[in-house]
Amino acid sequence: MTIPEPVSSGQPSQTAEIPRYDLHCHSTASDGALSPSALVERAAGRGVTHLALTDHDTLDGFAEAQATAEEVGIRLIAGIELSCQWKSNTIHIVGLDFDPFDEKLLQRIATQNTNRWQRAREIATKLEKIASANLLDMAVEFAGGTVPGRPHFAQALIKAGVVTDHGEAFKKYLGTGKKGDVKAFWPELADIPAWIKEAGGVAVLAHPRKYRMSATKLREMIDDFQAAGGQAMEVAVSGQSSGDTGFLAEMARRKGLLASVGSDFHGPGAPWCELGTAPALPAGLSPVWQAFQS
Ligand code: MN
Ligand code: MN
Ligand code: MN
Repeated sequence: MTIPEPVSSGQPSQTAEIPRYDLHCHSTASDGALSPSALVERAAGRGVTHLALTDHDTLDGFAEAQATAEEVGIRLIAGIELSCQWKSNTIHIVGLDFDPFDEKLLQRIATQNTNRWQRAREIATKLEKIASANLLDMAVEFAGGTVPGRPHFAQALIKAGVVTDHGEAFKKYLGTGKKGDVKAFWPELADIPAWIKEAGGVAVLAHPRKYRMSATKLREMIDDFQAAGGQAMEVAVSGQSSGDTGFLAEMARRKGLLASVGSDFHGPGAPWCELGTAPALPAGLSPVWQAFQS
């Protein structure tokens, strides 16, 4: 690993320390391994000065993270990672610097969560005859107590002895057109930027290289995202090749999008996406924090 270059915020910091941003990570409030407070402590220990906890479709970790951020003296920016769909793809949008107590946003997240539980129960019902074990409970356990998705049902099927591996689970039961293939209830990509903007924040397209789209398709998706009010995209992503970072930097410049920085940390043991390891933003980009209001 190379030590990331510090990213300048363009503003003098109060202390002598150089600002280091990490605007994408996960705690046990979604699929991360560390509690919000343990995560904030780890981030501070790794030199992160500005952190956004971006758990999947929930703000449940915010209060705990905020309390620890105050204790350890780092700046916590409200964050979330929302799943949505664009054509047949699941896309992730990170929301940053919104009001974490905004009632409309909380209500939208709660509805999304209800829909996801309904889907999980439907998958479990469809698969209940093929395993004697309680697949829903097992899948919830694999999901760390949060709403399980198909990969967690695959783990449950393996544990129940129905299949031997993930591939077989999808091939026989969970893949497209199989018994347990219940359509996800994701909102449309075009709706998400407004959710975040109405709560006072900035919508950021997460890890654009992870969707394995052609450049043409990615540009088309970004056009739709911008038309809906999306203002930023992640450019400096931990674990990404420098070629991909350069490609995304060029894309952000051409599209006039602000650029974000994040590790997508999910837990210790994956040093390529450790907290604070995102590379520096390439020159000539406007960092997303220029649009922060708080
Ligand atoms: Mn995740
Ligand atoms: Mn993601
Ligand atoms: Mn993520």
